[in-house]
Amino acid sequence: MNEFYVEKSGNDKDEHMVHRANCPSLPAKEKLHFIGVRNNTYAPLQEAAHYWYSASTACPVCMG
Ligand SMILES: [Zn+2]
Repeated sequence: MNEFYVEKSGNDKDEHMVHRANCPSLPAKEKLHFIGVRNNTYAPLQEAAHYWYSASTACPVCMG
């Protein structure tokens, strides 16, 4: 199980990056929404796009 976060700021395609809590390139906590604890990477990507933003993308560092 991992804690997942989504960035409040989107990239140039307006996609919001989803990270694991232990990501070495995780932004500061005030720049993130906590998604929750999940046992896969698919669910947090779907939830980020459903509850907060229209599009999400997986961090290539921690979820690639
Ligand atoms: Zn990451």
